[in-house]
Amino acid sequence: MTPPTYDGPPIFDGHNDTVLSMVKTGRSFFERSDAGHIDLPRARDGGLGGGFFAVYIPDPAPAAQDVRSRAATLESAMRRYEDQSTWPEPMPLEYAEAQAVDLLGRLLSIVETSDGQVAAVRAAAELQTCLDRGTFAMLLHFEGAEPLDPDGRALETFYAAGLRSVGLTHSRRNRYATGVPFKFPSSPDTGPGLTDLGRALVRQLNARRVMIDLSHINEKGFWDVAKISNAPLVCTHSNAHALSASARNLTDRQMDAIKDSRGIAGLNFHVGFLSAQGERSPDLPLTRMADHIEYMAERMGIDHVGLGSDFDGATMPSELRDAAGLPRLMAALRARGFTDGDLVKLAHGNWVRVLRETWGA
Ligand SMILES: [Zn+2]
Repeated sequence: MTPPTYDGPPIFDGHNDTVLSMVKTGRSFFERSDAGHIDLPRARDGGLGGGFFAVYIPDPAPAAQDVRSRAATLESAMRRYEDQSTWPEPMPLEYAEAQAVDLLGRLLSIVETSDGQVAAVRAAAELQTCLDRGTFAMLLHFEGAEPLDPDGRALETFYAAGLRSVGLTHSRRNRYATGVPFKFPSSPDTGPGLTDLGRALVRQLNARRVMIDLSHINEKGFWDVAKISNAPLVCTHSNAHALSASARNLTDRQMDAIKDSRGIAGLNFHVGFLSAQGERSPDLPLTRMADHIEYMAERMGIDHVGLGSDFDGATMPSELRDAAGLPRLMAALRARGFTDGDLVKLAHGNWVRVLRETWGA
């Protein structure tokens, strides 16, 4: 398929698993590939100006001791997370820290070897400058707080390395919080809220002005954070539960709380979180993505919706395929009647605004 020429606003995206996909396939960020969804050439084709790059720590598996084979088993691990009764025990801190150092180092190496084409952004003004100049903006994010110790020392180290966003948990449990299983249909109210250490971590992240991501957390945890956090509530990659009753999606009440806190939810492109039946078929029409955006914008207002693709970590609608297909999504949104101003907000404006309010600069 020939990539369409894109002349719309640059797109900044709330979630990808590109570093693990690179580990798994051995591909380079700088070379066009058929594997996965994001590399720099395809990002350029699709108007993707940057995004949240997740450091996700696969569970330690006795049979797969190196990071490459663990990444290869990610898909089977995801299936394991459908049922809470088969969840592994929380992983050891030392293991998670070592893995995070490795994966963060891989991301920072991309910046270092990019000849100025890629920058790690630590402030909203930096992000806006990158989007204006066409420098690809990488935001360093932890998907799961497993590498952070309760005393906050690792947070200081990782912050100095550029970490600016932390999801408290993936769809599993750790010492801070419990995530939702990948269950359909299911309410997101699937288990206990934050632990005492989890509440303390929210205060540490607030004090450091690091963004807190609530995309995988269960509903009790979500409301615990809503009660104590002083930052806008953010779900980087979650959809409307009313349209797709996955435990991973947001109820109307959760969306109201996001709006009231001046936060944001990013549209997840995973077919299973878009489909009304929870089906994981790539045949899902692209217009279904516009259905969710429309619903979220009606419920929360246009200022509180963004994109959170889950590129390189999920099954995309085949009409979109990868980052180079983003102009097709933008065209579908335009066809729904979103104005130029709306499209700027959806593409990146809302992310920049929420990051500025969260980070303070
Ligand atoms: Zn995720």
